Amino acid sequence: MAPDPFREVLEQTAELAAGYLETLESRPVFPSASPEQLREALGGPLPEEPSDPQRVVSELAAAADAGIVAMGSGRYFGFVIGGALPAALAADWLTSTWDQNAGLYAGGPSASIVEEVVREWLVELLGLPAHVSAGFVTGTQMAHVTALAAARHHVLAAAGWDVGSDGLQGAPPVRVLAGEQRHVTLDRALRLLGLGRPETVGADGQGRMRVDALREALGKGEGATIVCAQAGEVNTGAFDPLPEIADLAARADAWLHVDGAFGLWAALSPRLRPLVAGVERADSWTTDAHKWLNVPYDSGIVLCAHPDSHRAAMSVSASYLIQDEGARGVRDQVDWVPEFSRRARGFAVYAALRSLGRSGLVELVERCCAQAQRFADGIAVVPGVELLNEVVLNQVLFRFADDARTESVLRHVQEGGRVWMSGTTWGGRRAIRLSVSNWQTGEGETDLAVEVFRAAAGAVPAPPPQASRRR
Ligand SMILES: *Cc1c(COP(=O)(O)O)cnc(C)c1O
Repeated sequence: MAPDPFREVLEQTAELAAGYLETLESRPVFPSASPEQLREALGGPLPEEPSDPQRVVSELAAAADAGIVAMGSGRYFGFVIGGALPAALAADWLTSTWDQNAGLYAGGPSASIVEEVVREWLVELLGLPAHVSAGFVTGTQMAHVTALAAARHHVLAAAGWDVGSDGLQGAPPVRVLAGEQRHVTLDRALRLLGLGRPETVGADGQGRMRVDALREALGKGEGATIVCAQAGEVNTGAFDPLPEIADLAARADAWLHVDGAFGLWAALSPRLRPLVAGVERADSWTTDAHKWLNVPYDSGIVLCAHPDSHRAAMSVSASYLIQDEGARGVRDQVDWVPEFSRRARGFAVYAALRSLGRSGLVELVERCCAQAQRFADGIAVVPGVELLNEVVLNQVLFRFADDARTESVLRHVQEGGRVWMSGTTWGGRRAIRLSVSNWQTGEGETDLAVEVFRAAAGAVPAPPPQASRRR
């Protein structure tokens, strides 16, 4: 019998992976290797001859190690990242192993059915209407593209225009309104869809869309309209006032889209649910599984209250395909997403939801928020720190006396490697943002983050008085 070409390399890889994960507790959160060092380690001429797979994998792991960010560590607080739950990571391995082309039911029946199951679970967990359709895409940005394509189809159809066949040239104008603190991916989605830059609606000091500004903006026009609201601003975690926005959108006959990349998960928790009150009245929603659900990258989800418009905007057919949905009532994923050939993304989401269960999901979300509050309480009393946000969710925003000091303390912390978080600009000034979105972040990690900042604030000399902020 021929030797099994897979078993040895997969067993070796499981060892390498487990070994890596065991270093997450101790390794520097951000690597110190330079681009030149990484090019040196990973580069070289394209090999002329084949290499043994075990050797390829072990050499890759060794060479890449110096440039790997410990994003899965409980000490990583940057951007809004999340970690990988063990079951989700393992299911992701199986997804590659099974290597289904999950565009059609015929490309992998289990991949299709698992998406059906996840759709039902999500809709129930998030408290959305039972008929809502779902698509599993790379991230919230592509979920925006999908949702807003459905919106574009829907509002133009209501204006008597078929954008699918006649395109946008000569179409009735589509107004798109979005908050001042919208996420940049919303703009890119609109740009890809030929809808251009949205009309900006003013926001308050926490980044929430102002209801009076939306009312005024809506009053200035009519016709096909899309309103984009946000559940969870990326710096502050703030939620737009969804009940009032839903009222205004309904009165204007507008499509209401909600970016809930991480904030939508607040819906799971009875304690946090009031933050998203009214969210079920939207027409479309986007969220990420690779952030707070702790599914490995990449994994985003689009949900839509108008399955017909969702499908009309995405569906594709060709004579050589085997499309089953109509005939057998099964799901062909190409009908719900922009991709054609695609990864079977449902498996890892399914595994994450199953491994946590309802109580585990609530616990994950609430614990991350509790840690954010704990960090905020700790950092607020570090000398020189100004807390900038109301900590309503899992995000904390703060700064030091001036931009130079904020930057230098942050750099000191980042280079120290014990915890890592990212900077931002808020209200025209530099700030530091902490996000707690990992199942492994507990009090130990949170207290360490406070301690690291306290030490950095002491170690970094304050700028001389004349360099400080002009009044
Ligand atoms: C992360 C994020 C996005 C973009 O999500 P991707 O998964 O990176 O495409 C959009 N909106 C908000 C609020 C986010 O936090």
